[in-house]
Amino acid sequence: MQHYLFFETPIMTHYFSSNFTLGILGGGQLGKMLLYETRKYDIKTHVLDPSKEAPCAIGCNHFEQGDLNDYDTVYAFGKKVDVLTVEIETVNLPALRQLQKEGVKVYPSPETLENIQNKGVQKLFYQKHNIPTASFQRFANKASLTEGIATDAIKLPFVWKSTQGGYDGNGVAIIKKGADLAKLPDTECIAEEMVDFKNELAVIVARNPNGEITTYPVVEMEFHPIANQVEYVLCPARISDAVAQKARAIAEKVSHTFEHVGLLAVELFQTQDDEILVNEVAPRPHNSGHYSIEASYTNQFEQHIRAILDLPLGSTASKAAGIMVNLSGAEGFEGKVVYKNIEAIMKMEGVTPHIYGKKETRPFRKMGHVTIIHDDINEARKIAEKVKNTILVCSQS
Ligand code: ADP
Repeated sequence: MQHYLFFETPIMTHYFSSNFTLGILGGGQLGKMLLYETRKYDIKTHVLDPSKEAPCAIGCNHFEQGDLNDYDTVYAFGKKVDVLTVEIETVNLPALRQLQKEGVKVYPSPETLENIQNKGVQKLFYQKHNIPTASFQRFANKASLTEGIATDAIKLPFVWKSTQGGYDGNGVAIIKKGADLAKLPDTECIAEEMVDFKNELAVIVARNPNGEITTYPVVEMEFHPIANQVEYVLCPARISDAVAQKARAIAEKVSHTFEHVGLLAVELFQTQDDEILVNEVAPRPHNSGHYSIEASYTNQFEQHIRAILDLPLGSTASKAAGIMVNLSGAEGFEGKVVYKNIEAIMKMEGVTPHIYGKKETRPFRKMGHVTIIHDDINEARKIAEKVKNTILVCSQS
């Protein structure tokens, strides 16, 4: 006679091959990679994005075109789903609050998003909760910033950050002298102390509604010097165990303090004295975790779904060292995209390109990424450099 083992919590099974619906606000590449996992588990999805050509449009069960910042659009979209998540943090918060009141599970919560959307508010949150971060001052506009410099209230050099609307380094500028202010837009901003860092690190934390967490290994991010965009992500980071432990502990504290549900990517600076400072967080899958698709037992997208649906969290251990190379549009090219020499990199062992599905390229636009896996991180780094120098994201003609 056959014996079956029955476990508690049968409620979980209702996600699979059923009418349960997961809503995703934003239909870009992060959403597209989330959809690989919802497809794997046969979980039904609805996606909302302003562009009908969004990378997610073809992978979800139902796609809606609409404004993520419009109350009525987000509310109407959310009423049709059971759990709502985001792949971008600039979404209409009053609509999310109302949906939550009416029983829709919203992860990340509107409270977390409110603390993150504005960089000044985010920095105050760290200060209030004793989370180490670079010192800063907030300014309502460019005039008050200029006055702050004139009265010596801020010391040069400093890092200027627009409190809203910046991403991938485009709302960030290093101000070395008064004349550098000329290029800045007139927005609310913060002036942050310039950190003399050894490394930029990141830790992805997954937390479920019961507060259980798993943490991915610490990764190291290498940035493009001009575009301020991440060029390589290395897992594991080439740092000591003591620094890695400190980084993971701080990232876990940040996740608990936000009472965050889902993935939280915590970007960190490792200073020359091996202090760890929190730079900023993203409450969703993040490009510092793309390596996990090939290199980890549970990739970050699957882990996000497990966390927000209160399913068992998977192992965050790596099967091999992994490096992500960002594929962004080359300078001097604009128009219909061509991935030149993609066949050459596909011949290399352990190399997998990911193409996000954006038809048009422009300088520094994120068009895809390439993952390199290898037993040895230093060998992987050499292959990554070769990949970077071989493939070119350009336009036709
Ligand atoms: P974004 O939200 O656009 O990613 P970040 O705050 O992460 O902006 O800043 C982009 C990059 O600028 C960082 O990855 C880092 O290289 C540099 N940077 C940011 N803040 C500081 C700082 N306080 N000191 C030195 N460099 C910084």
